[in-house]
Amino acid sequence: MRPERLNPLFAAADSLKGVGPNLARPLERLGLSRIRDFAYHLPDRFMQRRAVADLDEASVGENVVVALTPVEYRSSAGRGPFRVLAADAAGNICALTWFGRNAGWAKKQLPLGEKRWIAGRLDQFGQTLQIVHPDHVVEEGAAMLGQLCEPVYPLSDGLTQGRVAALVQQALGHVEALPEWIEPALLAREGWPDWREALTEAHRSEHAKARDRLAYDELLANSLALMLVRGANRAKVGTPLTGDGHLRTKLHLPFALTGAQRRSIAEIEGDLTQSAPMLRLLQGDVGSGKTVVALEAMLLAVEAGAQAALLAPTEILARQHFDTLSRMAAATGATIALLTGRDKGRARESILMGLMDGSIQMVVGTHAIFQEAVSYKNLALVVIDEQHRFGVGQRLMLTQKGKRTPHCLAMTATPIPRTLTLAQYGEMDVSRLDEMPPGRQPIDTRVVAVERMGDVVEALGRHIEAGHRAYWVCPMVRENEVDDLAAAEARFEELRRRFGAAVVLLHGQMKPEAKDAAMERFVRGDAKLLVATTVIEVGVDVPEATLMVIEQAERFGLAQLHQLRGRVGRGEGKSTCLLLRSEALSETARRRLALMRETQDGFRIAEEDLELRGGGELLGTRQSGDTPFRVASLEQIQRLLPIAHDDARLLMARDGGLTGERGEAARLLLYLFERDYGVQLLRGG
Ligand code: ADP
Ligand code: MG
Repeated sequence: MRPERLNPLFAAADSLKGVGPNLARPLERLGLSRIRDFAYHLPDRFMQRRAVADLDEASVGENVVVALTPVEYRSSAGRGPFRVLAADAAGNICALTWFGRNAGWAKKQLPLGEKRWIAGRLDQFGQTLQIVHPDHVVEEGAAMLGQLCEPVYPLSDGLTQGRVAALVQQALGHVEALPEWIEPALLAREGWPDWREALTEAHRSEHAKARDRLAYDELLANSLALMLVRGANRAKVGTPLTGDGHLRTKLHLPFALTGAQRRSIAEIEGDLTQSAPMLRLLQGDVGSGKTVVALEAMLLAVEAGAQAALLAPTEILARQHFDTLSRMAAATGATIALLTGRDKGRARESILMGLMDGSIQMVVGTHAIFQEAVSYKNLALVVIDEQHRFGVGQRLMLTQKGKRTPHCLAMTATPIPRTLTLAQYGEMDVSRLDEMPPGRQPIDTRVVAVERMGDVVEALGRHIEAGHRAYWVCPMVRENEVDDLAAAEARFEELRRRFGAAVVLLHGQMKPEAKDAAMERFVRGDAKLLVATTVIEVGVDVPEATLMVIEQAERFGLAQLHQLRGRVGRGEGKSTCLLLRSEALSETARRRLALMRETQDGFRIAEEDLELRGGGELLGTRQSGDTPFRVASLEQIQRLLPIAHDDARLLMARDGGLTGERGEAARLLLYLFERDYGVQLLRGG
């Protein structure tokens, strides 16, 4: 149970004044549902303004605070903007401009002849100076001068900066001091503020030490939790598995295993013979052949008289794995079943029976295979595919099924850099498939400006007419599924008008049946073009697809682009990937896309992407999705994670039960960052 003193921090957002049902949705979209989330909703940057006596002192493009006196209202016909012309102390005229706002509001804020303090960005419109949608209009200059530096928060539709800032401040009011969990010597050496002060400062200014401390807290919580998981796992009892090979020798693969595959299989075999449950990550780039490694491990478990399960993150992928494994394992005679949330009624009952009496030896499925109602006769191995889709906590729950702890093999194609491997998978042993099966053709990758969309569609037409298949990946409009969906549907309609029934659409909001139907048409070749959101990122395997178009490629993380691109180049045919880019690109964006063109080495892409994105920005870039962190930036992870890792190890060595003074504080930290599964493990659960 969460310690009581943290309860105020975990109170729901609607305990803040002014948060009702209307705000709940936009806040949720930002992940703001509890007081703690607001306190940790750190600014992306700070807006710096300069106070000027008159506009002669300011330059166009600058954010200023200036005293202006309204002299004339100008409304334009129809839906045009409303302008207030105002004079500064030197007699310069500046237009304050509002679009789509009711004029009455502006008139009330800015009575003619009365001086007001205005904050905003100075622009030029033709020959006149103007400020569009001033950030602030106030009567008293003093208040404004206190706001020369203002946080700029990540927003979502329906929220304004002012609103978010006010809620954050309100939330900070609920934050009480907590005992220190950072090693005092480290705290002193780094000159970091205490926790509460760090939170306050981080919202007030570009206070690097405050940001570092908060990031460090998160990294320390993560390291501690991973160590606790690992320790708990070591103390668990699993089933030692020794296979006699009678099934595996019947496996007739159409290819020879690569050295890396053979090495990984041997490592897994070694783990499985132990009674301590295996906790191993199989890391291998897209197409490196992880599936067959999983199959070998599963067959070994079956040879040893146990059951094995393979968990996939999506139904599409589960189905595909089921097909592949059934085909490959057919000659071995091992029984295999598919179980997803969709199976109902008698079919489901019969699978559940088979799992319970052991007549089904291998099962492939989604989360459904670990639901309460599902029990196994003797589940001894769990394989988790595309493991980055599951958090550590989830991963842990999955391996709790059964009296003994099953061995766990997690697979991932995310070629994360080594520093992040430590953060994300620190509790695991790692096998790397660092060698590709022979004969892979490089994918011809090109960056194409979006103005050439017409040419791209032409080329796509030729491709389809020649009987080939292609993917069209729609842009990520925002971190917002609804908008993504709208964009995908619009593009689908357009391509459908052009290519007719050869086009199918696939997105995450579709009903599973509809998804399968679309996927199946594409797999069979009835459909030639699959228009999709990023749901196809994971694992989809259609070797006949040899062209991929990715819209607004610059919006994607490189690791994700790499994953997407990995959907082509899987068969005999030569493959092409077209990265459509927007007109105006930053230097960094340009270099990132160039890197995609240059190399197909997922690890190199991951390392260099980290460098390209990590440097330069003071506050760094928080990347949701790429890392398990919300506070720490990539740069901070690189710099601070090794320290946090060592510190966590030291603390565990001194006080493994977290019962001492610092240990108790560390427990609070684990709850604060919702790594409390670590604490639960301590209880010997
Ligand atoms: P991933 O690591 O992305 O899951 P898969 O297991 O789907 O990769 O394998 C990709 C393709 O490579 C499959 O068609 C598979 O049959 C093939 N493959 C796997 N291992 C080898 C090998 N040693 N030699 C040739 N082809 C292989
Ligand atoms: Mg795979």
